[in-house]
Parts: sequence; structure tokens; C-alpha cells
Amino acid sequence: MPQHPPAEPGMREDEVDTPALILDLDAFEANLDAMAAFLAPTGAKLRAHAKTHKSAVIALQQMRRGAVGQCVQKVAEAEALAWGGVPDILVSNEVASPRKLARLLALSRIADIAVCADGEEGIAMAEQAAEAAGQRLRVLVEISVSGNRCGVSPGPEAVALAQRIAASPHLIFGGLQAYHGSAQHQRTPEQRATTIAQTVEDTRRTVEQLRQQGLECGIVGGGGTGTFRHEATSGVYTEIQAGSYAFMDADYAANEDAPPFRHALFVLSQVMSTARAGFAVLDAGHKAVPTDSGFPKPWQRPGLDYTGASDEHGQLAVRDGAAPKLGEKLRLVPGHCDPTVDRYDWYVGVRGGRVECLWPVSARGGMQ
Ligand code: PLP
Ligand code: MN
Repeated sequence: MPQHPPAEPGMREDEVDTPALILDLDAFEANLDAMAAFLAPTGAKLRAHAKTHKSAVIALQQMRRGAVGQCVQKVAEAEALAWGGVPDILVSNEVASPRKLARLLALSRIADIAVCADGEEGIAMAEQAAEAAGQRLRVLVEISVSGNRCGVSPGPEAVALAQRIAASPHLIFGGLQAYHGSAQHQRTPEQRATTIAQTVEDTRRTVEQLRQQGLECGIVGGGGTGTFRHEATSGVYTEIQAGSYAFMDADYAANEDAPPFRHALFVLSQVMSTARAGFAVLDAGHKAVPTDSGFPKPWQRPGLDYTGASDEHGQLAVRDGAAPKLGEKLRLVPGHCDPTVDRYDWYVGVRGGRVECLWPVSARGGMQ
């Protein structure tokens, strides 16, 4: 059941009920502008990943700044976006379920929809679903560039699948999906440059082999917040799929040569116990701030460290002179923005210390 909004427009930030998801609107807008400015001269377009924000409101702001559409991982995310008015959506993932494919085809009556495939069986399933719906569906071949997720090998195997798609009466060959996930958090810029150079090479070779067979890639998509500078300037990728750039979490800030974005997403939490010296307890444990990519960082509070999380409690180590007051509200920078957003029904948009807007996380929990 959706929860009561934790705030009202006009409130001061310290009146917002906790734990709450705070969006610093100045930092957020600066991040969207910075990505648009970086990509403009490269010729690559943004198709931002909505797995991060799960919000049609945010998707449309990215599109007003030049994004050509959105990526999603889940059909439920595609639904939330299409119903919210987003006109162009790529499921950057395989969908191996006739029922889910039928849902996508229903959406394709109100938005441009594309999906990925990495095998003949998946292509046959998509063809059957499209035929049953009396529609045509755009399908991209996903190539495996990191070796640890979905995707067929680059080169001849990918070309064979593209030919299979092109020969299917209800499918349209849409191009290549080539995302390298584990490169995003390689810590040094040299590691990321080397990894993505190989990814670009595998992708370039496949695009050329497709062209020799008369198959043009409408989309060559990939790139995330850690590596987009490489894909965007490669001359091979046409679309960049970064998501976290809009919010910038602590894990991305830990990359050397961290991407040039500001922390815009916070969990607002409250100090609920100061009973012991050198220690305080927050009302935000790992149910409020996931810890899969490390503990959150107290924002602009030197002397405080988040050192442990249980379900509903966050532990703060307090250095001398830094003790927070009981009831005080603190911003935390999440370790990993995507699962953090998925914990909340509402973004509380804040500017200049005041709540300006509330936006629903409309695809929250949309895993199916
Ligand atoms: N593209 C795909 C296919 C992804 O799976 C992801 C994230 O895992 C992204 C893009 C976006 O990555 P990030 O949020 O790190 O920018
Ligand atoms: Mn992520």
C-alpha cells in the first residue's frame, strides 16, 4: 500500500518525516544539464536508465534536455513510464515470458517499445507474441561484452541472431545492446579505459559484420555513469544508458576520477538515541538505506560515521565534539542509489531548505 507522503510543499526540510527520500533539486538539475552538455558534441544521445529513478516525472525532465527515450529492465517499469507519458522505451534486457511480452505489446500501442534477445528461442517467443498481438516489435541483439550477464558472443553469432530477427515477419531488427556492467565501478580511470576499449572493439566489429550483411543498427546502446565518457566518444555507440548520474551515490563518488556529478539524492534520517557517549542511533537502518555497496555517508557532518545497520537502526560513531542532538535530522548519501529509490513511494524535492514538490516513485517495487 502506498504510504502517506512524508512532507508537504512549503515545509522546511527539518519538518519532513523520516526516513524520507530527499532530492536536492539544484544538484539534480545540474546533473541533468551536465550530462546533456557533455553528450551534445559527441553525437551520442542519452537514453537514460529508469531502473535508477523509476519515475515518469524524472524521465520527462531528461527528455526535455535531449534524451531520446528511456531504458528499463522490467516490464513493470516500462508500464509505469508509458502510462506516465514517456513515448520511447527500450527494455535493455531479455524478456522470456509470453505473458510479459504480451504486456509489452499492449504498451506498444501508446509508446515506441523495443526489447533485447540473445538467442533463437527468445526471438521465436517474441515473434509469436507480436503475431498474436497483430503488432510489430523492435528487437535488439544483446552481445555479451563483460561475460557475466546476458548476451550472445559478439561477431558471427550475433549476426546470425540479427538475421533471424530481420527474417521474422512481426519483428524489426533494432540494433545492438552492449553494456559492460562491471566496468562501471572499476576504481581507476586506466582500468575503465582499458576495459571499455575492448568493449568498443567487440561492438565495432559486430556492427561492421552486420553492415556487410545489409543490416544497419538503429541503436548501438550501452554505457553507464562510470564509463559513458568512453562509449560516447567511441564513434560506435549511438545511445548512452547512464542512470545513476542523475543522483550520484557514494559508491560512484569512490571511483578515482569520479564522474562530474553532484550528490542529489539523500535519505533524511533522525537521531533517535544518544544514550551512550561516542555513539548515536539513527532511524534509518538497511531497510531505509541498502548497504549492498557500503554504508551511507552522513552529509556535511564531519565527526560522524555510519558504522553499522540493522533492520531499522543505523549506528553512528561520534567523534569528540561532533555529537548530534536527539531528534536532529541528518542527510545520508546512499551507497547505491538504485535500490535506495525503490524503498520509497515519494521523492521529496527540496530547494533552499524548503520542500518544493513531491513526485511519486511510480515504478516502485515493479519487478515483474
Ligand atoms: N544500462 C544497463 C543495461 C544497466 O544494467 C545499467 C545498470 O546496471 C545501466 C545502463 C546504468 O548504469 P548506472 O546507473 O550505473 O549509470
Ligand atoms: Mn546500480
